[in-house]
Amino acid sequence: MADPMIYLDYAASTPVDSRVLDRMREVAEMNCANPSSTHAAGREAQAIIAHAAAQLAGLLNVDPGTLVWTSGATESDNLAIAGGARYRAHRGKHIVTMKTEHKAVTDVFETLARDGFDVTWVEAQPDGRLSPETFAAALREDTQFASIMFVNNETGVIQDIEALGLICREHDVLFHVDGAQAVGKLPIELGRLPVDLLSLTGHKFYGPKGIGALYIADRPGCHVEPILFGGGQQRRLRPGTLPTDLIAGLGMTAEVAAASIEADLEHLRRLRQILWEGIRDIEGVVLNGDPGGFPGILNVSVEDIEGESLLLALEPLLVATGSACNSKTQEPSYVLRALGLSDKQAQSAIRFSVGRPTTRDEVEFAAGHYRNAVARLRELAPMAAG
Ligand SMILES: *Cc1c(COP(=O)(O)O)cnc(C)c1O
Repeated sequence: MADPMIYLDYAASTPVDSRVLDRMREVAEMNCANPSSTHAAGREAQAIIAHAAAQLAGLLNVDPGTLVWTSGATESDNLAIAGGARYRAHRGKHIVTMKTEHKAVTDVFETLARDGFDVTWVEAQPDGRLSPETFAAALREDTQFASIMFVNNETGVIQDIEALGLICREHDVLFHVDGAQAVGKLPIELGRLPVDLLSLTGHKFYGPKGIGALYIADRPGCHVEPILFGGGQQRRLRPGTLPTDLIAGLGMTAEVAAASIEADLEHLRRLRQILWEGIRDIEGVVLNGDPGGFPGILNVSVEDIEGESLLLALEPLLVATGSACNSKTQEPSYVLRALGLSDKQAQSAIRFSVGRPTTRDEVEFAAGHYRNAVARLRELAPMAAG
């Protein structure tokens, strides 16, 4: 029999926590009403949703009224960016983001550029971080909107959201943060951060797929135009029947995360260290991004090895080359290219991402297996150095 597979792709998606599954099943069995209905069962559904909003608000330290339910971070990013930039169109046409953002952000900016907005793509340092000085220098009199992610999904690089947000406040720039890889994984006192809009999604922190939220700060001038039209749900900002069971699941996901963030982080730090110690002395191995980034992600390149062959040789490890969303193409990761890696270096990159259920044995096995795979591929196809 084949070796059992080892899942090391928690940055792509996570298993649903059993407490979350229990809650979703309980709600689905208990209440089938449309939460928009005014009868007793509809009101019960509304109460279930209000409870979930309080749970999610508790994790983020914000008021529950600031949260809009969406289908996930892709939709939240679209609503925040297209809706925010259009709402602020009177303020100017200039909007700012980075090349290392998720496609759910970069594609919206490209669409807005075709609609007449003027986009500046600020450059990351080679370690993936954005220096606040570089960011401030990119802002102009007519800059009205900026979007910078919290934790990068490919490299784990963490941006200095507080410093960047303060610069936005000084320049009257609406500030959106894609928090899909950060919420529930890093302690975030969102209510205290100078952030106007923040996207999150359940399935990146042990909740269900297909449910997320957009935080919209309760402060003057902070608003977005809707991008979907239909019923009047959610103050007309995002119409559509609310999925009571998924929302209850996301609420429970947040409650579980709030109680385990510190222990999770400690666990991930230990795992990443074991993994990195196990492979760092392989000839030509480099860590991509910032070693001080989110400990759930380890992105490494290795000289003279091609990523797709490496991925096959690494079975039964379930890891990613580039990002999950782009791995169907053979293109080297645009995120790693933006950090200055060559096509060849970017092509050999493997993203290991560990999670709450990952064990020490699994990462020890992964390190040994990576080591053997690289040695085997080098024996099979010794490439000319340089
Ligand atoms: C996963 C992810 C998204 C997309 O989230 P979905 O809920 O899958 O739509 C957006 N941004 C980042 C940084 C992500 O990691």
